[in-house]
This record gives sequence, structure tokens and C-alpha cells, in this order.
Amino acid sequence: MNRQALDELKQQIPLLDYLQAQDWQPVRRLSGGRWMGLCPLHADRKPSFLVDPGKSLFYCYGCGRGGDVIRFAEIYHDLKFPQALALLRQWRGLAPLLQQATDFYRLQLHRHTEAVAYLQQRGVGLPELIEHMRIGYAPGRGLRAWLMQSGYPRSALQQAGLVNSLGYDAYVHRIVFPLEGNLYGRSISAAAPPHRFLPSPKGGLYAWEQARRYPEVILVEGLFDYAVLWQAGFHNITCALGTHLNARQFQQLCDGPRTVYLCFDADSNGSGQQASEQLAHHLGAHGMLTRRIVLPAGHDPNSFFVQGGDARQFQALVETAQP
Ligand SMILES: [Zn+2]
Repeated sequence: MNRQALDELKQQIPLLDYLQAQDWQPVRRLSGGRWMGLCPLHADRKPSFLVDPGKSLFYCYGCGRGGDVIRFAEIYHDLKFPQALALLRQWRGLAPLLQQATDFYRLQLHRHTEAVAYLQQRGVGLPELIEHMRIGYAPGRGLRAWLMQSGYPRSALQQAGLVNSLGYDAYVHRIVFPLEGNLYGRSISAAAPPHRFLPSPKGGLYAWEQARRYPEVILVEGLFDYAVLWQAGFHNITCALGTHLNARQFQQLCDGPRTVYLCFDADSNGSGQQASEQLAHHLGAHGMLTRRIVLPAGHDPNSFFVQGGDARQFQALVETAQP
């Protein structure tokens, strides 16, 4: 990639846009349009991360690192320069498309009673939560036309996995949650496979920029677990979208001193328990403190709340969590 192509890439991906897509939030405005916020690259307690949107540069007074959007991607995702470039190029193509698809799905949610009924059945109803998680609904048609009207060619939609090879919307009757660089679709019908992702990587921990500020973080398996806990007032929570953490998610959990509360499903076959024991062991080997929250048999956090559990009862489980 020559100098000109590099400059072009940097122009097309403003640093601030990229940071905000990773959930970074500015805390304080400075002169010259610059911003200060918590540093996403180290365990920051008070805002030491300076962003200059005009120059598209950052500098952290805590860890002393700084540079452009490519440098940021290198450090944040722990990548070498060429891989960071590849990731940014992919992101440049995909991010606006996923944003538009998310907008479409969000508009559909309240137009489809079956979607709202499903959310209610899973204990999700608070408007602030639906807003916070940007929850939408894929009715199974309409997305392709909507995106093609905005100028996206069908090939781009197929490549992203939003439209299948026959030209139909890929997500049908699914509740949709936007992730970083992906969309998770949960089927509301028992006839279809429950979980679906687009072909890109599942990304890091869910809403990590918010969770990582807390000295104690609760890790759950699924987004519906995340949803009911957030709704009950537990905001020190994150989700790995499964019990197996990818390298980036593991690294995020270890990015500062904290206690990690593992709250996986209490499956009857013991698989959730086994996964949490393994993860606790692995985290412990990296110097992290862990506790395991033990749910009543057969429960996951979602069913615990849906079947009448409340914040006070869950808090009691947190306090009696096993080392
Ligand atoms: Zn820093």
C-alpha cells in the first residue's frame, strides 16, 4: 500500500468515528474541538486519553501512547501493521452497511407484534434497554430493497452475509443485536437454528467500554442474559456470546485489575459449569481474581429473572459466589 492509499484510508476513517464504534465516549471537551476520555488502551481511572478529531490523532497521558487511527487499531486489537490495515479496510466497507441494516431492523421492531411479544417473553421491555442495546427485528424481507435504494449493490449485501445467494434477506424472524462489525440474530421461531452471526468475526466483549470501568465485572454467555441483568440495574456486565472467549475477549478481561464474576448457564449436563471452571483457571493463571456465581439448577440469568428472580436475589448470589 503506497503513501497515497494510506492517507486515503485515514481520511475515510475519522479516528473519532472509529473510537465511537468501539464504544469509546468522550468525557470532557477541550479547546480546539479536542476531547478527553478514558483510555481504551490501558486500565484508566480518570480521563487521560486525548483525541484531536481535526487532525485525527490521539495521545494518552497515562500510557504514553499516541498516533493515528492505524496506530490505534494496532494497539487496541493487538495486530501488526498490515493486519491493522486489513482490518480497517474491511471495517471501512462494512461499518456503514451494518449501520444502515441496524437502522432498518430497529424501525421494524415496533411494527411487528410477534417481535415485541418475544422480547416480553424473554423479560425485555424497558425502552431504555432497547435503546441501549439498539435492539431490532428482521421480519425476513425489506432489507435488501432498503439497502439497494441507498446505493449498495447486491454483491456487497451478499458479501456481508445480509442477503443470501438467492437474493433473499438472510435474517428471517430474528431479533437483531448489533455487535462491533457483526449482527447477532436470535430466531423467535423454534423451527430455525436459534443463533446466527454474519460471516465476520464476532468481535470483542459486548459493551466492554462501559463494563471495564468497574472493579467487579459480571460475565454472562448470552445477550438475553445481559439484557435482563442490565434492566435490573447491573451495569457492570459484559457478554462473550458463548462460553468460549476468543483471544481478544480474553485480553480485554485481563486489561486491568478487576474481579471477574462468571455467570454461565447452570446446564443439567454440567457444560456451563465446566466451561466456567476452565475459564476461571485460565484467568487465574493470568493473575485475575475470579468468582463463580451459582444459579439454581437448570437456570441461566435470563430464565432466573423471567421466572420471578429480582435484583436483590441476584445480588445475594453475587455475594455468595464461589472463589
Ligand atoms: Zn492509555
